[in-house]
Amino acid sequence: MFMSKLATLVCLLLLGEWGIGLPTGSVALAQTWQTPFERSQGQASATYAEAIAYYQRLAEAYPEVHIEEAGPTDIGRPLHAVVVSDGTSSNPADLRRAGNRILLILNGIHPGEPCGIDASMMLARDLVQQAELQPLLQRLAVVIVPVYNIGGALNRGDWARTNQVGPVAYGFRGNARNLDLNRDFIKADSRNARSFARLFHRWQPDLFIDTHTTNGADYPAVLTYIYTHPDKLPPALATYQQERLIPHMSAHMAEAGIPISPYVNVFGRTPDDGGMAAFLDLPRYASGYAALFQTLSVITEAHMLKPFSERVEATYHFLLGVAQHMNANHEALAAAIAAGKAEVRATERFAIHWETDRERVDSLLFHGYEGRYRPSAVTGQPRLYYDHSAPYQRNIPYYPYLKETTHSTRPVAYLIPQAYPELVERLQANAIQLRRLSQDTVLTVEVSYIDAWESRSRPYEGHFFHDKVTVRRDTQAIACYQGDWVAYTDQSGVAFLMHVLEPEAADSYFRWNFFDGILMRKEYYSAYVFEDEAAEMLAEDPVLRAAFAAEKARDSAFAASPWRQLTYLYEHSRHSEPTYTRYPVYRWWGSTALPLE
Ligand SMILES: [Zn+2]
Repeated sequence: MFMSKLATLVCLLLLGEWGIGLPTGSVALAQTWQTPFERSQGQASATYAEAIAYYQRLAEAYPEVHIEEAGPTDIGRPLHAVVVSDGTSSNPADLRRAGNRILLILNGIHPGEPCGIDASMMLARDLVQQAELQPLLQRLAVVIVPVYNIGGALNRGDWARTNQVGPVAYGFRGNARNLDLNRDFIKADSRNARSFARLFHRWQPDLFIDTHTTNGADYPAVLTYIYTHPDKLPPALATYQQERLIPHMSAHMAEAGIPISPYVNVFGRTPDDGGMAAFLDLPRYASGYAALFQTLSVITEAHMLKPFSERVEATYHFLLGVAQHMNANHEALAAAIAAGKAEVRATERFAIHWETDRERVDSLLFHGYEGRYRPSAVTGQPRLYYDHSAPYQRNIPYYPYLKETTHSTRPVAYLIPQAYPELVERLQANAIQLRRLSQDTVLTVEVSYIDAWESRSRPYEGHFFHDKVTVRRDTQAIACYQGDWVAYTDQSGVAFLMHVLEPEAADSYFRWNFFDGILMRKEYYSAYVFEDEAAEMLAEDPVLRAAFAAEKARDSAFAASPWRQLTYLYEHSRHSEPTYTRYPVYRWWGSTALPLE
């Protein structure tokens, strides 16, 4: 805590018990800079317009605060970024050269969970107004996205968060296209996501915080957290996060008297019914995305059943604690990130999909409320309730480890046909360096055939996502054309490249339907014409004849189906299309020099 006792008293008198921010100096100054949250005694959350206007006013009054537009969003209003620094510059390259670490805070990705919107407004103000906090900007610049899902924030009411206590009005989870932006970091269907990617790479944050409010179980913690899963970070960064950042934050929140917990991701109906697993933050999510660029990340989840004022206060203290940590440890943090980036660039084998490891279990001392059952007034069946008169501390099973399920080795480069501009746009938004072929050329490359895939029967976030994907590799001569794209893997974005371009990766562009054109044949055969050629093939090819006979012996349905038998022979004929299920991004192993523009 940075408040002096006197200042705390002034603050409490002025703002009521909800006061968090503490402008030094006069009461008049404090009143001038009260946020909508403070003015409402902790009942209200700022609207999008109020948040932007507040930051604009701060930027006019303080040279340390700068607000800029950061690209379009789906609703037609621009994304904003607010920079709070020592005032020497608002340019990322300048600030980095001067030795600053960069903290990026993303708010309102789910506008119904607005704690971070209000907490960040107070934090920006306090960083420039409170003498005790100003030293935090000596080696730190804080970049705040006031509201990310602007369309959702404008769709405001008091109805959408069924189980949440306050604020009096808030936004909606879906954006202007009814997308969940916390599933959109890779596929980037929204303009919000593509603008965010450019913002993220312009700033290259050292640490990234995405602020939320929970759903789910009831327990005493006011705030839960998801740090990037350490198995997804290079060793230098995982060690830094686990041994320095997390212990600092646990101590900081304990000192502030705010109970916290790892994100409560339960197997059963209650946390002590089967235990909890660490959240698998795939790249579609904020922290999983940031991990691909060796940015440390944490998701805050304030608890939905705590009063809004407490949720905002907890989020504020978490943000402040991270800022303190980054400023105090700026050299060690910079060194860990540099080492982590070097480790990734030297990596040949990348894990590209994981699952929770149910074989390895730890225990977690969990602070909970007893879950009990009583007859439901609605259904007559037993209903769950949490008994606040029966808090407990109990060791519960905790599954913090991931098991790698798929990996891939990196080629020298990927070749990407210019036929896929939507893919190239996303690579470029993510600062991937691309070259172009300077002439038509036939290249011998490693190709991947999609051997098997299973798609969802209903759309998920606008896509018939492919859940199960397996590939088979082959080497083929492929015609490439002047202007086709080349992405060498010897670049800082290599982990991102592997994760979006390897079809089996958890959130690959293939899974998100960027290449569905290859999953359907373009030509076929008429059985009555093909019969004669099929008979000739069997007569002339003893290997094919034996395989065909074996298939008939193995599978009685196959043996009973003329159509399946002819199709089998068609697929083994010279007419079968090599492009069918052939993934059109090719792996290049650098056997010759490529003709490049
Ligand atoms: Zn959320």
